[in-house]
Amino acid sequence: MSRVFNFSAGPSALPEAVLQKASEQILNCNDSGMSVMEMSHRSKEFEEIIANAESSLRKLMDIPDNYKVLFLQGGASMQFAMVPLNLMNKSGKADYVNTGEWSKKAIKEAKNFGEINVVASSEEETFNHIPELDKNTFTKDADYFYITTNNTIFGTRYAELPDTGDVPLVADASSDILSAPIDVSKFGILFAGAQKNMGPAGLTVVIIREDLIGHARKDTPTMLNYQTHADSGSMFNTPPTFAIYMAGMVFDWLLEKGGLKEIQKINEKKAAILYDFLDNSKLFKGTVVKKDRSLMNIPFVTGSDELDAAFIKEAEGKGFVNLKGHRSVGGMRASIYNAMPVEGVEKLVELMKEFETKNA
Ligand SMILES: *Cc1c(COP(=O)(O)O)cnc(C)c1O
Repeated sequence: MSRVFNFSAGPSALPEAVLQKASEQILNCNDSGMSVMEMSHRSKEFEEIIANAESSLRKLMDIPDNYKVLFLQGGASMQFAMVPLNLMNKSGKADYVNTGEWSKKAIKEAKNFGEINVVASSEEETFNHIPELDKNTFTKDADYFYITTNNTIFGTRYAELPDTGDVPLVADASSDILSAPIDVSKFGILFAGAQKNMGPAGLTVVIIREDLIGHARKDTPTMLNYQTHADSGSMFNTPPTFAIYMAGMVFDWLLEKGGLKEIQKINEKKAAILYDFLDNSKLFKGTVVKKDRSLMNIPFVTGSDELDAAFIKEAEGKGFVNLKGHRSVGGMRASIYNAMPVEGVEKLVELMKEFETKNA
C-alpha cells in the first residue's frame, strides 16, 4: 500500500525524509554498529544525539541562554501536575484561561495544589474562540499564568499572547510548537508533547527559564522536579532515546527547510487553502471564529451527521485518513502539521469540492 495523507491530530504524520533516514539507520545508527534503540543512553554516541537535538532546537527556536531545554516523559499531561508542583510556591495562586479540553484537564489537575482562578473561558460557546482577556481580572500575586497556545480539539489559537507583566507565562504548546517563530523570552515555561509536531510519542519537551527551577514544593517527587532533570541534562534516568533521536532529525529537517519563518509561510499557505474553501463552500463550514483560527487543526462540518460520516468514509477510501473530528465536536478535523505537504491540503480540497457537487 502507498502512503496515505494522514490528517491525524496526534500521533501524526512525520516528514518522509526523516522516516527514510531513520529506516536507513535502523540497524546501524551513525556507524555505531547498532540501532539507536540498542544504545546505552550514557554512551558517547547517544550523548552526541541528545546534544545535537538540543542545539538544533535552540537554533530553530532561538532559545535564550537563560533557558533550559528538558527532554522528559509522561506526555504533556504530566506537565499539568509538574507546573503547579514546581511553580506554585509563593502565593499558592495561579491564573488559567479555559480554551478547551486540554486547558480543562490542566485546571483540574492544578486545583489539587492551590487556588486556581479561571480568568476567562469560552466553554459556553463550545470553545469556538479564544476569550477576551481583561488584565484587571488577573491575579496580581499569581505564581504563574497558564494558557494553551493552540487548542488541538477545537482548532483555535491565540493571535496575540496575553501580557502578564512579571507573572511567568506558562504555555502548553503541544500542537503548535515549531509551526511558526515564537518569542521564547515571553514565557516562563513552554512545553509540548512531541507527537504532534516534533516526533514520535514518548517525549515531552520543556523549555524553562532557569530562575523558575529549584523552587518546587517540598513534597514534590524527584522525577517531577524540574531541577532533577535540569541538573542531569535530562539523564537522571533513561530518557526516551528513540524519540529524542527522531525529534532531533525533525529539528534538522526544519533547519534545512530554512527554519520556522519558512515553515510558517508554508503553514499559512496550507491553512489558507482550506479556510478559503470553507468560507466559500455551500456544504462545508468551519466551526471557529475567524480571528482565532488555528493554522494546525482545522475542524469543519456539513451540518448533517450522515453527510459527515459519508464524507469521512469516502475520503478514507481515497487515502485521506484520520479526518474524523474529536468526539466532543463531531464532524471533521484536518490536522495539518509541519509534515503535511501543501499537496495533501490541495488534494483534500479537491475531494471536498467533488463531494460538495454531488451532495449540496
Ligand atoms: C495532545 C495534547 C495534550 C496531551 O498530550 P499527551 O502527550 O498525550 O499527554 C495536551 N495538550 C495539548 C494542547 C495537546 O494537543
